[in-house]
Amino acid sequence: MNEFDLIRDYFTWPIKDPGVTLGVGDDAALFSMEQGYQLVTTTDTLTEGIHFSTNTPAKDIAHKSLAVNLSDIAAMGAKAKYFTLAITLPEIDQPWLKEFSDSLRQLSGRYEVNLIGGDTTRGPLNITITMIGIIENSKALTRSGARPGDGVYVSGTIGDAGFCFWKLSKGLVPSNQELKRLNSPTPRVELGLALKNLANACIDVSDGLEQDLSHILNASSVGAVIEVEKIPISEILLGHIKDTNDWSIPLCSGDDYELCFTIPEGNEEALKKISESCKVNITRIGVVRESLGLQIEGFDGPRKSYQHF
Ligand code: ADP
Ligand code: MG
Repeated sequence: MNEFDLIRDYFTWPIKDPGVTLGVGDDAALFSMEQGYQLVTTTDTLTEGIHFSTNTPAKDIAHKSLAVNLSDIAAMGAKAKYFTLAITLPEIDQPWLKEFSDSLRQLSGRYEVNLIGGDTTRGPLNITITMIGIIENSKALTRSGARPGDGVYVSGTIGDAGFCFWKLSKGLVPSNQELKRLNSPTPRVELGLALKNLANACIDVSDGLEQDLSHILNASSVGAVIEVEKIPISEILLGHIKDTNDWSIPLCSGDDYELCFTIPEGNEEALKKISESCKVNITRIGVVRESLGLQIEGFDGPRKSYQHF
């Protein structure tokens, strides 16, 4: 099997979207955009040894590569449409490729995003996906719109992926449920779209709640106070927190891909409806204020959020 057979067999499937006039197979892809919309684009790379371990199943690597990009588009309040896949493989391992391809196709089908091109090279395992989405002109949810008085909210539960990572790093064996939160995160696609007309600012929690919320605050030139006791914690992590009184995992560990956003007062009913229709819990954890900085009430122990350098 050569490079072109590989692309044909594992990364080419029919595209139903009439907006795509040329997908995989030419020098570049062609698609058209509806009037009144802006394009939204994001790229995320997953590298073996940094973002996943050597024994991570191919299906999880595929899922996560796509999910993290879907999450970024969701955090902009936008609709994901197309993606390209640049993959570097150490060798052609057909069972691995089949598992990867099936998983990618399944998740992309679920959110109706189409693979329209990419690049295939040989080297240490590395996956880079570039996602393209659309949003109505000037409707995007940026980091810079938070206003004093807004409530600070998060979706789902925070810290599960980090807890799983922590267990692995200690040589402990995580449960399947814990592994799922780390390896197979659910991008909050529906929630991001629903928040488009309600939230003032939004970010996805990829590097840790404290750091990611701080990005919103800095970009918006505001501050906030949050209470650790209000951070939604799953059953998985609750015991650990009760035993240790250590909130550093939910505050600083990344990889949850929940959304953190700020909403003006008086929108509780609308939020409740969104929570129901998107089937995800939404929890208020604090409030935005004028004085700069993030004040965290209830925990001042040591902690450090993820940074590559
Ligand atoms: P070029 O040499 O012009 O860059 P390639 O041989 O890299 O072309 O790719 C041929 C076609 O296959 C292009 O349409 C490209 O977008 C697509 N392609 C290559 N690798 C992938 C991949 N991993 N997933 C999807 N499409 C791919
Ligand atoms: Mg190429």
